[in-house]
Amino acid sequence: MSTIVYENVGVTYESNGHQAIKNLNLTINSGEIISFIGPSGCGKSTALNVAAGLIEPSLGAFKVDDEIITKPGTDRGVVFQNYSLFPWMSNLENVRFALAQKADLPKKALIERAKELLDKVGIKGKSQHVYPSKVSGGMQQRVAIARMFALDSPIFLMDEPFAAVDEITRKHLQQLLLDLWEKEKSRKTIVLVTHNIEEAIYLSDRVIVLHEGEAILAKEITFKRPRNRQSLEADTEYLTIRNQLLEAIEGKV
Ligand code: ADP
Ligand code: MG
Repeated sequence: MSTIVYENVGVTYESNGHQAIKNLNLTINSGEIISFIGPSGCGKSTALNVAAGLIEPSLGAFKVDDEIITKPGTDRGVVFQNYSLFPWMSNLENVRFALAQKADLPKKALIERAKELLDKVGIKGKSQHVYPSKVSGGMQQRVAIARMFALDSPIFLMDEPFAAVDEITRKHLQQLLLDLWEKEKSRKTIVLVTHNIEEAIYLSDRVIVLHEGEAILAKEITFKRPRNRQSLEADTEYLTIRNQLLEAIEGKV
């Protein structure tokens, strides 16, 4: 059980006095997938960093299961916009290290499991054994996703996790995330930041549109799961939702 609550959350950056989040009130139920969407600079990363415990709200409170959160914790796995792998560990070591936090397994088993996870996200062979800086941004992003899977926290926080990968890989990784989420009895609570409307609708139970730090629309996405991309995109309801979100993002509501 991991229910997330933003309670009157406001964030003002002290360095420039900029109010990046204004009075955000949002409850994310345990096992729900939500997306924050909106143009660059609307406060998506700030909202996610509050959840990660990296930014303390200037006003209000952020809670997980009624507990006020002010720092990072292993209950929340994160994929940041800038990858944030340990640069002194190989890709494989990064994932193995995460696994070791959770699983009490012999080293050999941890390595096998880490390799499996990296294979799943498409990081194979030699790329597993080099430092993150030796592979492309898109590949680092995939390693970060494998590491989040390895940590297996009840909450996943993902900031534009598929932004640096090509379209085919993006769809594959979305599917991997959904498969993992759908097969679990105790489903993960997932907060995703994206600026891709199709991705937000396909993955989410609710899409929250942020505009200059304010949540201006919370759209429920009720298509039954598992969803099928093709039939979804041909659905008139889908097109209506898509347009509504687009208008909100463009500031027309
Ligand atoms: P998004 O992720 O939607 O692009 P951010 O949350 O990164 O938006 O930023 C929201 C606003 O806060 C932007 O105007 C940005 O310039 C500002 N901002 C972000 N981080 C900082 C910071 N560390 N110090 C000052 N201003 C910041
Ligand atoms: Mg951002």
